[in-house]
Amino acid sequence: PVCWLNGSFVAEQDAQVSIFDRGLLFGDGVYEVAAVLNGTLLDADRHLVRLGRSLAAIGIPNTQPAAAWLGVMQQLATDNGVREGLVYLQVTRGVAERDFPFPAHVTPTMFAYARPKLLRADPNASGVRLLTVPDMRWNRCDIKSTSMLAQVLAKQAARAGGAFEAMMHEDGLVTEGGSSNLWIVNDGVVQTRPLSSDILAGITRDVVLELAHAAGVPVRERAFTVAQAKAADECFMSSATSFILPVTTIDHDAVRAGAPGAITQRLRAAYLERADRLTQ
Ligand code: PMP
Repeated sequence: PVCWLNGSFVAEQDAQVSIFDRGLLFGDGVYEVAAVLNGTLLDADRHLVRLGRSLAAIGIPNTQPAAAWLGVMQQLATDNGVREGLVYLQVTRGVAERDFPFPAHVTPTMFAYARPKLLRADPNASGVRLLTVPDMRWNRCDIKSTSMLAQVLAKQAARAGGAFEAMMHEDGLVTEGGSSNLWIVNDGVVQTRPLSSDILAGITRDVVLELAHAAGVPVRERAFTVAQAKAADECFMSSATSFILPVTTIDHDAVRAGAPGAITQRLRAAYLERADRLTQ
């Protein structure tokens, strides 16, 4: 496979970054992941707007315009034959002698790669299990940072417990998934936590809100508890590379019948329809 590193397309096995890169030393960087469907990037423009916000939030200069990123990302999908999958990109503060404050003169490290992944026929679309874990993260979860030790531990705990994803919570109040936003449905009303520095503003979350509005499904942006999620009519998760997946078990408790809910399935279908329309 071919990746892109600091302006050049190179074979992945030949792509090298310094041991003094601050992404490696401090997790001092940000990233994005966008889906590829029908060989075309999905909502890459929105992902690049969020990249700009993440970079600005931590004072890394945004040296590559969105149009250039779009070209790189699309070429990675095309040249690697990825018809359905994802493009990952990362920007770190760059390479400098190890010292915590920002270096005086440093050039951001930028790279991106593409991978195939089943999106339309995701085997998890029949429903996944979440494991509840305390949210151990910092106070700026709205920044899509590569510093992710808390999520690594949360998702490892989930996997070790036989679950697909973590349901992170603060004293019982659900924040989000390890790498997804979480939703419940009760009496036909869709509910998710409002945006704040406690969660990442998911691109998929935004699209789900738009699709719900368009379908006349009422939405409530309000935090919910683990207990409320377990007792909900439906529960689902959203992310760029899973779209919408039904959550059918939380810890050892089945959500209702332990089967995907009707509104969840309707929203997943609407998401796929929109994604196809935008990428064909
Ligand atoms: N929350 C977290 C913590 C994430 O890592 C992700 C995935 N990047 C999401 C939510 C979902 O965001 P998106 O829909 O933009 O993929």
